[in-house]
Amino acid sequence: MHLIKDNSIVVTKTQYTAEEFIQKKIVLLKDEVEPFFAVDLEDICNKHIRWLTSMPRVTPHYAVKCNDDINILKLLAYLGAGFDCASKGEIKKVMDLGVSADRIIYANPCKQSSYIRYAQEVGIETMTFDNEQELMKIKQLHPNAKLVLRIVTDDSNAVCRFSMKFGADINTACKLIEKAQEIDMTIIGVSFHCGSGQMTSKAFVDAIQNARIIMNYGIKLGFNMHLLDIGGGFPGNTGTEDYFSEISAAINKTLEEHFPDNGNIRIIAEPGRYYVASAYALATNVIASREMIDSETGNMKYMYYINDGVYGSFNCVLYDHYVPEPSLLPKNESNKKYTSSIWGPTCDGLDCIHQSIQMPKLNIGDWILWKNMGAYTISAAVRFNGLPFGKPHYFMSKQFWDSVKAAFQTIPRKYQVDTSVIRHNSCDCSNEVEDDMLPWLPEDFIED
Ligand code: PLP
Repeated sequence: MHLIKDNSIVVTKTQYTAEEFIQKKIVLLKDEVEPFFAVDLEDICNKHIRWLTSMPRVTPHYAVKCNDDINILKLLAYLGAGFDCASKGEIKKVMDLGVSADRIIYANPCKQSSYIRYAQEVGIETMTFDNEQELMKIKQLHPNAKLVLRIVTDDSNAVCRFSMKFGADINTACKLIEKAQEIDMTIIGVSFHCGSGQMTSKAFVDAIQNARIIMNYGIKLGFNMHLLDIGGGFPGNTGTEDYFSEISAAINKTLEEHFPDNGNIRIIAEPGRYYVASAYALATNVIASREMIDSETGNMKYMYYINDGVYGSFNCVLYDHYVPEPSLLPKNESNKKYTSSIWGPTCDGLDCIHQSIQMPKLNIGDWILWKNMGAYTISAAVRFNGLPFGKPHYFMSKQFWDSVKAAFQTIPRKYQVDTSVIRHNSCDCSNEVEDDMLPWLPEDFIED
């Protein structure tokens, strides 16, 4: 393997784990110790396959806000996913890939007027709302919109809660349906979000039941209510597979009960972290350290400064309540552990990743690996103090990619993307890499 450029995609002869991929790359880096991500594209494909097999009735619309990495969007577009966009910028990014407007839901209940106008111009009709002011605004700017009414959920068991900000309760939802009827606006269904990092399947079950009540009321008033959007909140870290199975089984059962498959109902979801969390492993370098005596114990304790922090990829510590787990590269099984703290590279005292953690002694130049770093990391990172944050380097084995292509070649043309646009936008995979590296989306990418 050669030293590869930022954003390059390596299609390998053999299958690598993120750890192996990072180890190989580190050897080549020498003094170039910038932080970087190893992005396992197989993991993303496997998540998609898992989704399709676990909840065959629910079409995923990937929540772009979670990680708007262009290559992830391309891959998911290729695999036939839809997209949940929160702004003009996200809509444009997805549509520039050749994704058609009918694969996008504009799922932000409170939208800037100019963005609603933009959605109308580019043909996006499906959008959420949860209050009368928004309904009137959309009526004025996009009278042909197909509205999805977002209802409130019990998200008290979620890591990141949204219901204090969004969602109509049952009474308000009924009044909104009446208002829409009065002003001749079209409501096509109901959406909800049970909170990101939702810890119980009951939240989904209850929300689906409430959605049924609202849908029935809409139908009674003459609306063709045919879309149920069950939102995001599905777990995505390694080790949450059983929990995902439990949630999906509960959802399937509740859908069967309240939304039986009669050919008239379309069910979608807006998963974000589910798709990307486990695919991204971040490699950071120890750039400085301080040694001191712990005044309480009299033992040595250490402060380590690494080259990515809470203003960069670790913003998830602040915004996503995430507790990232460090592992050392190469592994250090030393029994002797010291109380340590881990800090980001900026001059700010807030830039702390771990206040107190037991770790073997590290040296300047050592590498630390952080797994499950794909969700709500790079999409909210900034270059505070002029510092870069981790750049993605993607990998996938050729054998796996061939099998994915074979499995997905039957996706109806309608759900695939315009390949001419994709090639035009494709990332730079230059020839300086080995011959086992293929360009992104090979020529035989889509049958015609
Ligand atoms: N849909 C909406 C409207 C959201 O606000 C979010 C997250 O903020 C998502 C989907 C994605 O949620 P998650 O990453 O938990 O699946």
